[in-house]
Amino acid sequence: MAKLDEKLEAIYTEVLKRNPGETEFHQAVHEVLDSLGPVVAKHPEYADAAVIRRICEPERQIIFRVPWVDDQGNVQLNRGFRVEFNSALGPYKGGLRFHPSVYLGIIKFLGFEQIFKNSLTGMPIGGGKGGSDFDPKGRSDGEVMRFCQSFMTELYRHIGEHTDVPAGDIGVGGREIGYLFGQYKRITNRYESGVLTGKGLTWGGSQVRTEATGYGTVFFVEEALKLRNENFDGKRVVVSGAGNVAIYSVEKVNQLGGTVVACSDSGGYIVDEAGINLDLVKEIKEVRRARISEYVDKVPSATYHNTGSIWDVPCDIALPCATQNELNGRDAEELISNGVQVVAEGANMPCTPKAVHAFSSAGVIFAPGKAVNAGGVATSALEMQQNASRDSWSFAFTEQRLAEVMRGIHDRCVTTADKYGVPGDYVSGANIAGFIPVADAMLAQGVI
Ligand code: NDP
Repeated sequence: MAKLDEKLEAIYTEVLKRNPGETEFHQAVHEVLDSLGPVVAKHPEYADAAVIRRICEPERQIIFRVPWVDDQGNVQLNRGFRVEFNSALGPYKGGLRFHPSVYLGIIKFLGFEQIFKNSLTGMPIGGGKGGSDFDPKGRSDGEVMRFCQSFMTELYRHIGEHTDVPAGDIGVGGREIGYLFGQYKRITNRYESGVLTGKGLTWGGSQVRTEATGYGTVFFVEEALKLRNENFDGKRVVVSGAGNVAIYSVEKVNQLGGTVVACSDSGGYIVDEAGINLDLVKEIKEVRRARISEYVDKVPSATYHNTGSIWDVPCDIALPCATQNELNGRDAEELISNGVQVVAEGANMPCTPKAVHAFSSAGVIFAPGKAVNAGGVATSALEMQQNASRDSWSFAFTEQRLAEVMRGIHDRCVTTADKYGVPGDYVSGANIAGFIPVADAMLAQGVI
């Protein structure tokens, strides 16, 4: 990793020492600090009040036991987390991830990213993240429900519409949010719609929340293309993953005239040169929660690969939408040699530092997750607005609000990169534009 400015290097060293073994968190912190050199030079007051040191330390970290009973009557045990990272701009806001790889370092990396992402939206939301090492894959609805009820039996003490508002992430979709909300309501005897986002449309959810992260990802790329007098028409696109973010990215690319030729799940990837049949992917992944390999049973001209990398498939635009560090330096070199023009992170931190470096050295437009995928949390904030006013907006109106938010984020990244002397650098633009409102609010609120 690149050497940081001297003051920032000292902060990074402290982060390494205070958070041993949390490699994803270290990576996320380093990436932000790497952009802040010109900011500390211009604003010594941030260093004087230890703003950056304090931003790197969560305000509160909660770790708890989650026991539950499986369908065979056996007691199962998982670990739950909620990291309330920063509330300078508003109540903590960020998703819950249920995946066997979850540990404190993953939740902290996601919570840290969330601070700047939420700030970039321009909405009044702080940063947090939570989850569990529970694996919903292969579990019955009853097992998922009992797990969610046990998880909420501890979490309810820490959340609230003005305190901390969780949502979904990997492994947490509409089904899980429903079970979590039901248990919160039962324990507290309060119908507090604003305590969770991603709710069902008949009980306080917002139109477009399901589609928001994927649609927002594509809106961001559309803006980047527009700036260069280009658009999606005729572009060949590869999208990794086949979950919430991937599916709705594919949907919006199709609507804007691009062709998605490959997508994946954790087992492998499919290539369909005719363009991915999204209805079939939805039926396999959303309805039946099955494997993407089944796609080729219905579309024999498509191919399934469980070795190699989806990034070997040539494309104009690559949208990594699965998980952290899924696209490495070798993958980046392959994409570059195949002529990729734009890489935009639908997932959180899917590109390794080597991959990001390769893209920027090759002049590929690279847009980081904290800007690109902020449409999800922005629409969650719109859900909170609707809950607070006991209103519900139409799909068209909500989508238009989302598109405006994404345009605003794109503009903020571009103008901030220009202002700090790094034109075209979306990584620095996003990090600096996300950081400054949080830092200013922390200065104003005193040493807390
Ligand atoms: P989902 O659980 O809906 O989907 C994740 C998808 O990625 C699944 O298809 C999964 O496959 C696949 N996957 C997981 N690991 C790998 C891997 N190593 N290689 C290839 N595919 C893999 O999660 P989301 O779509 O919600 O989240 C995806 C990413 O987007 C995450 O980084 C998340 O933090 C980020 N994000 C999500 C937001 C949201 O609103 N949902 C908001 C902002 C960011 P399988 O089915 O086999 O598990």
